[in-house]
Amino acid sequence: MLFINADYLRHVAEKILKKLGSEAEEAAIVAEHLITANLCGHDSHGIGMLPIYVEKVSLGRLKPNTPVKCLKEDGSILIFDGQRGYGQRTASVAMDAAIARCKETGLALMVLRNAHHIGRIGSYGEQSIRAGLISIHFVNVVDHDPVVVPFGGRHARFSTNPICIAIPGTDSTAPVLLDMATSTIPLGKARVAMNANKKVEDNRIVDADGNPTNDPSVLFHTPMGALVAFGLHKGSGVALLCELLAGVVGGGGTIQPENERMGGIINNMLVLILNPRRIGDSDWMNREFDALINYVKNSPPYHLDNPVMVPGDPERKAYAERLKNGIPLSRSAWDRIIQAGEAVGVLKGELENMIS
Ligand code: NAD
Repeated sequence: MLFINADYLRHVAEKILKKLGSEAEEAAIVAEHLITANLCGHDSHGIGMLPIYVEKVSLGRLKPNTPVKCLKEDGSILIFDGQRGYGQRTASVAMDAAIARCKETGLALMVLRNAHHIGRIGSYGEQSIRAGLISIHFVNVVDHDPVVVPFGGRHARFSTNPICIAIPGTDSTAPVLLDMATSTIPLGKARVAMNANKKVEDNRIVDADGNPTNDPSVLFHTPMGALVAFGLHKGSGVALLCELLAGVVGGGGTIQPENERMGGIINNMLVLILNPRRIGDSDWMNREFDALINYVKNSPPYHLDNPVMVPGDPERKAYAERLKNGIPLSRSAWDRIIQAGEAVGVLKGELENMIS
């Protein structure tokens, strides 16, 4: 395992993204998003996505230097088209606009359609948190074959459809940021495990016949296996709601097979943003928030070494550790990044020198 400094990895990502066609500002936004995902412990949405982006750009499924387009503003409702541009750029700009609207109205609904992979949804929840606002995100993933089996089925019908709920913290308590795939693990975590020659835990994956397996490679060859939705029938229901809210209500379309699948990773996101200070007394809310989080975290740990955490804690812990000790990357994941760089004209030596 290699442990690579976050700043170096950010330079590597920016260099490859620029060669892939992005102007400097876009390359910086996407690189920052990817490396923050690594720092938060979500390698599935980190720099390891670059080889996939190189492929998607070469196929015309992802379009560098494409800004988000506002389709409609109707009071507190904002609707955007990501136009297949880098989702990290289009989603963050659309979120800024929705946050500004929420500051005026107290409540905003933002829809982003047709964005290429928007990455770690938590980063958009963090935008709301920085503005002192709460946000609730429903996301679906279309343009490719489904990868998640619905509860009780054998064959995939959903993608990993993430949800995120972000609530700002107080002076004494950190924010709560629930950010998760509705599959037991995201596809990227299976890819990271496969690249590192590791098995995944039980009840995460089924093979092409719908039987349980621990082998992540079944997701990357035909006949294809599938991921399992989290929480049995409940998670399967939440995955469906992502399709219904982001895909149907938001208007971006769903994974149903009449819709064209061109082989990109298209995210549609429906977000509700609200200002808690327009609802209740801030001092009371802060005290109640502190007391509740303390109460939850003070539950005696089942395993003495693992104190109870709340959503957002694992990412803060990983961030501090990885900033200090470097981001772990398997040799094969690093080799794939080098190959992706070479494919767009970045010399292997240039990248190797950057980490040595
Ligand atoms: P995860 O399972 O690692 O964590 C899910 C949530 O649980 C997080 O909020 C985390 O803080 C919390 N958590 C984890 N361990 C905990 C513990 N011990 N105690 C209390 N809380 C805990 O996340 P995931 O499902 O693997 O998703 C990883 C990333 O993938 C997310 O950032 C998600 O947005 C992203 N994703 C994106 C897409 C896309 O299409 N763009 C699709 C799927 C997933």
